[in-house]
Order: sequence, then C-alpha cells, then structure tokens
Amino acid sequence: MKTINNVKMFKKELSGKRLSGKSIGFVPTMGFFHEGHLSLIRRAREENGVAVVSVFVNPAQFSAGEDLNRYPRDVNRDIELARKERIDYFFNPQVDEMYPDGYKTFVEVESLSRKLCGKSRPGHFKGVATVVAKLLNICRPDVLYLGQKDAQQAVILKRVVADLNMDVNVKVLPTVREKDGLAMSSRNKYLDDDERARAPVLYKALSEAEKSVKEGERDAGLLLKRIRRRISEEKGIMIDYVEAVSIDDLESLDEIKGPALIAGAVKLGGARLIDNVLINCEKL
Ligand code: AMP
Repeated sequence: MKTINNVKMFKKELSGKRLSGKSIGFVPTMGFFHEGHLSLIRRAREENGVAVVSVFVNPAQFSAGEDLNRYPRDVNRDIELARKERIDYFFNPQVDEMYPDGYKTFVEVESLSRKLCGKSRPGHFKGVATVVAKLLNICRPDVLYLGQKDAQQAVILKRVVADLNMDVNVKVLPTVREKDGLAMSSRNKYLDDDERARAPVLYKALSEAEKSVKEGERDAGLLLKRIRRRISEEKGIMIDYVEAVSIDDLESLDEIKGPALIAGAVKLGGARLIDNVLINCEKL
C-alpha cells in the first residue's frame, strides 16, 4: 500500500492505473476507522482492481463551535488497518494541500442541504459536497462507496455526481452496528460508560417505528410522536430532530406511502448521534 499526501503525485499514480484499464474503487473518510469504514473498504477491495481510501478531517464541514479540534484521530492505526485490507492507496492530505491559499470555490446543493441535519448544522453539507467533489476530481474513481448511516450525505452526494456530470457509480452500503444496535461512529468515542449504555435508544425507537410500518401504520405524525416518546424515556437525551422524509428529495411526509427514510439526531453528553431506517416500499 502506498501512503500519499500530495495531490499531484496521487493523480499521477492513479492515471497510470487507469490507463492499464483497472477499475478504481474509492472510500472517502475522516478516519479513526471502525467496522463501518471497514465494510466499505472491503467492498471497494473486492469489487475493483485498485482500491483507494482517503482520510481527511475536512475543516470546511465543521461550523464554529463544533468538534473539529477534538475529532478523534489515529492515522497510524488507520494506515495499518487499510494495509491489512490490502488497500492500494491511502490518501492523507494536509489541510493546505486541499485548501491552499486563495481557495475560493464551494459546491452548494440547494434545498437538500438545508433539511434534516442541515437545519442545525448550517454549512455542513456545503463542506461535505465541496470536499467530496474535489476528492472525486482528484481520484476519478469508477465507484464511490458511502454508508447508509449518513443517509442525507448519500442523497446529497448522489445529487452532486448527477448534477456535475461525474462518471462515477455511487454505492451506498448498510449501516454497521454494535451488538446493541448503536450505529458505529467515530463520535461514539465521546460517550462515557453511562451515556454509551443509553445511546442505543435512538435506533431502538427508529426500529420500533419501522416495525409499526411493516404492521400497517402509515401515519407519519403518529410514528414520530412514538419515536420521540420512546427516546424521552432515557434521561439526558436531547432530540435535535426526528423526521419521516421521501428518499429522493428529503421532503417531509405526512403519510408513509412509498419509499421513505425515518431519520433522527440526538445529543447525548458531548456527542451528537444520528441514525435512520429505510422503509422498504416494495413490501408496503
Ligand atoms: P466518516 O469517516 O464518519 O466521514 O465516514 C466515512 C464513510 O463511512 C461515510 O460514507 C459514512 O457514511 C460511512 N460510515 C460511517 N459510519 C458507518 C457505519 N456505522 N456503517 C456504515 N458506514 C458508515
């Protein structure tokens, strides 16, 4: 595995591989790997001649007062894990390599960026869309691997790829969870033991709603009320939002009639946790 932190060198390496006709699979991350990251990395490895992972904690997607400075990092461990998975290239640029002096260009995905997490994290998805567009231009992969855990991010990045005519196939893989259902996340590190024990309630509440839909409940307002009530049973958890939305434009739904996403974000101690369940329309 080659570790590269320079854009020019990375482009040169990959153009050689591209010329030899190998497909390139790419997994962008902010590092501090867990099994969620590794599931994407393994798929990229299995399905492509060249497997690439990037680790870049992107300042542009953190607002003032968010956790940029304390975001968990352990690049040496990430490098070892990527090596074990037989990744070909580990791209790890510094901030001034991605945003050199004079940097001015940002990618804004209208409307979608302001829904769900966008309401309490203004500017977040502008940062995400910008850095991933840049990484896609640098890497020019055939396949981009994303996690369903960040469902809004996946919807937005699919929009970026379509709108900017990028030739990349986007694959969204299922959320990897701890045994008790908590979605794996680098931010789970912020939870102390007591908070960690309470954290699975978000997924429990969402799963109960999913089960109710399977049993025939269609009233989104009622489902959301039950989710909020279930979460409130655990003390010290602040609900940021719980919403039922359509999967393509993230518009709020009153009634579950087709493909839907029920998503939520909560604050627990020093962590902001997000999760979602996808309602499978074919079975409705
Ligand atoms: P991050 O490093 O948190 O920015 O995540 C990098 C990629 O891993 C994104 O596509 C995430 O959606 C994905 N990811 C993060 N957590 C999980 C998880 N628990 N299961 C599956 N994918 C995940």
